[in-house]
Amino acid sequence: MERPATDPRLRAIPPAHAILASDEARSLEVSLSRDALRGLVREVLASLRARVLDGSIEGDREALTRLAAQELIVFARRARASRLRRVINATGVVLHTNLGRAPLGREVMERVTEASLGYSTLEYDLARGERGHRDAVIAPLAAEVFGAEDVVVVNNCAAAVLLVATALAAGREVIVSRGELVEIGGGFRIPEVIAACGAKLVEVGTTNRTRTADYERAINPATGAILKVHRSNFGLVGFTESASIESLVALGRNHGVPVIEDLGSGAMVDTERFGIAHEPTARESLAAGVDAVMVSGDKLLGGPQAGIIAGRREVLAKVRRHPLTRALRPGRLVLAALEATLKVYAEGRAHEAIPAVAMLSLAPEKLHERAERLAQAVRARGAGLTVSVVATEGRAGGGTLPQAVLRSSAVRVAGIPATGFERALRSGDVAVVARIEDGAVLFDVRTIGEDELDEAARAIVAAAAGVTDTGHGRGEAIEAAPDTD
Ligand SMILES: *Cc1c(COP(=O)(O)O)cnc(C)c1O
Repeated sequence: MERPATDPRLRAIPPAHAILASDEARSLEVSLSRDALRGLVREVLASLRARVLDGSIEGDREALTRLAAQELIVFARRARASRLRRVINATGVVLHTNLGRAPLGREVMERVTEASLGYSTLEYDLARGERGHRDAVIAPLAAEVFGAEDVVVVNNCAAAVLLVATALAAGREVIVSRGELVEIGGGFRIPEVIAACGAKLVEVGTTNRTRTADYERAINPATGAILKVHRSNFGLVGFTESASIESLVALGRNHGVPVIEDLGSGAMVDTERFGIAHEPTARESLAAGVDAVMVSGDKLLGGPQAGIIAGRREVLAKVRRHPLTRALRPGRLVLAALEATLKVYAEGRAHEAIPAVAMLSLAPEKLHERAERLAQAVRARGAGLTVSVVATEGRAGGGTLPQAVLRSSAVRVAGIPATGFERALRSGDVAVVARIEDGAVLFDVRTIGEDELDEAARAIVAAAAGVTDTGHGRGEAIEAAPDTD
């Protein structure tokens, strides 16, 4: 049902049935349902109307019918295009949660392909010719890189915390410091997670200071676990104190209470090498004696989205027996990627083969050089753009290293309206996600690969040309909301 056209210019807009009668619409009937086709026609008409009203197109009924029929084909193709698309990350945020966190390297992806195109030993013990367990794929490497007796892999670290707390403490009490009742992002809040596990949260200490004696006073026969949570996405400075993991382990041993640690970020390499404060590692926690430590696969570890539970054999056997384990288990693509990632660490090649680690450890001179190259490539193609190389500050992202400022270099493109330009960059053939600062668009090169520089330059110039020609770029852009967890 078309509403009566109030604006006289809209009289040339064809009715839906005229477009549905076109050859183009007929050709689409083979692959689209009647409803889907009508939906597309409505979208095409809405777009025509908007452009007629803003003066960007004009024509009589016949011309607009022909245009609409042609656009129907374009809209149909766009509707079928992948929604999960590759983007060039020019934000400088290495573990950008909205952009998929840690990108995987070629070597890791080759292993995923190899292990997934055909059949695999996912749950099969070749030596014995009988059923095995999927964690057995990861266990030897977990022993080597984390120093863990055993490992259980689930879909993400949030699932790992949920599973461990449920398996060890459902119907019992979990002791947590008031300084560690954190929210990780995406609605993952420690008090709510403990409640969802069917356990009772027992808060001890204060926001800024909690001592081992505070935990000790809370221990009773109903205690199921002591949980330590890493403050991975915020800092606490000043008059602070928290119980060391060693003292909590000793306390737990004395009372027969398991001590578990939600580490989240999963640093494996020495973050001091990036000029960043020391980030605790799973290896350190296990060496200190915790029963289980939970880390994320796609934060500082730089692997696939996964939750790694590493720890003592008896404790993990209990975790593995819980029915939730089956519900939270990852598929073979993830296990293949995680195995390949851990193998790179075992071989000491993380700085070359794990993209997130490589990006975090890029030296300032190297970044400056890369920015100069991108600026050159843009200048060579784009006449009239104001292009410069500037110093900038990036972040690790992904809810890690909140206080770390990564010194980086960026290409600054000014001289065109920044909001329209930034939007056009997101809707180009190769989408580029960048940020606006002081009225200009900045491209931080830390997260733009050497092999993406040319493509980025082309996309930048094309987007800029689109803005100066038509005043706007359109398309279904991804959310440009800042990285939240
Ligand atoms: C990030 C984080 C989580 C959640 O990890 P996901 O893998 O994103 O589910 C849990 N705990 C801590 C301390 C974290 O930093």
